[in-house]
Amino acid sequence: SLKAGIVGLPNVGKSTLFNAVVENGKAQAANYPFCTIEPNVGIVGVPDPRLHVLSDLSKSQRAVPASIEFVDIAGLVKGASQGEGLGNKFLSHIREVDSILQVVRCFEDKDVVHVNGKVDPKSDIDVINLELVFSDMDQIEKRMERLKKGKAKDSQSKFKEEAEKSALDRIQQALLDGKPARSVPLTDLEKDAVRHLCLLTMKPIIYVANVAESDVSAAEDNPHVKEVMNLASGSQSGIVTVSAQVESEVIELPPEERTEYLKSLGVNESGLGNLIRATYDLLGLRTYFTTGEKETKAWTILTGMTAPQAAGVIHSDFEKGFIRAETVAYDDFVAARSFAAAREKGLLRSEGKDYVVQEGDVMLFRFNV
Ligand code: GDP
Repeated sequence: SLKAGIVGLPNVGKSTLFNAVVENGKAQAANYPFCTIEPNVGIVGVPDPRLHVLSDLSKSQRAVPASIEFVDIAGLVKGASQGEGLGNKFLSHIREVDSILQVVRCFEDKDVVHVNGKVDPKSDIDVINLELVFSDMDQIEKRMERLKKGKAKDSQSKFKEEAEKSALDRIQQALLDGKPARSVPLTDLEKDAVRHLCLLTMKPIIYVANVAESDVSAAEDNPHVKEVMNLASGSQSGIVTVSAQVESEVIELPPEERTEYLKSLGVNESGLGNLIRATYDLLGLRTYFTTGEKETKAWTILTGMTAPQAAGVIHSDFEKGFIRAETVAYDDFVAARSFAAAREKGLLRSEGKDYVVQEGDVMLFRFNV
């Protein structure tokens, strides 16, 4: 599954948030597959009400959601890219994730020491992002050196090598200006050519503004949160507000008391679902469903995938032997209540190999074995 890495300065609430995400995943394990692989890695289901609607209609024995893997990457501090302490090890963990959740402290609490003496989201974000920028610059320099010396044996073709050089030139310039690699427009070929470097600032970022318990009901009024919102909108990043503290308290309560407690704080639901959902959306992921008596399942695809490619997510044989896909839009399926009824009503389409799968499509693949 896809990996999201939780990063941030010490004492901003990373572990508290990670534990809440993991406990929440365990609590929902009846509906959502869950496992902890290592102490700092947990897989959680992506909440999606459509899954249960379909599952009820089909009287499925089980409902299986899409999933995301969360990794708690502690220890990113100023100087990490210079190899101070265990810095480089943490950066290499970030290299492996598909997206970054940067927890930003927006809560005041005299009892919780702030590494820089005061709550200052802009400064915190700058510190972290600068480490990522430094690490990328370092890597690009090394790579350019190899390319210049003709030592880059791994590059497939001259053509691709030229694309890589051109992309790296522009990315390097952006980094020197303190801008992330993802702000540089690249052609598909260039993207492909630099992918092997796994540049840290190429990865999508969500800022997770961690607010105090007293702020959850009106987080946008918190001036620290406003500042993070401005920074996010100016840097192609997402923002989600949560209170790690509240989430960790909610998890401790018996399920029937949770809603009551959240209401007492002025909110209707836990912020974790939002966080998981936002992570999924930010990665440009789409969901399609299969549904039947045995199971209803949400499958994750990338925007723009065709029907055979989507079928290949289930099994490579489905892609190879693809004939066609019986397809119903989610709303149409719900209105008709079954594939058979959808067919009668003319809502079912028989789609071929060029069909681009749409968000929420309910699909039944026909294929040769
Ligand atoms: P990490 O170093 O980023 O992993 O931070 P921790 O999750 O260990 O949290 C550091 C301290 O801040 C702990 O004592 C937490 O209880 C506290 N903390 C975390 N989130 C909140 C919050 O939303 N409000 C308050 N008041 N304290 C928090």
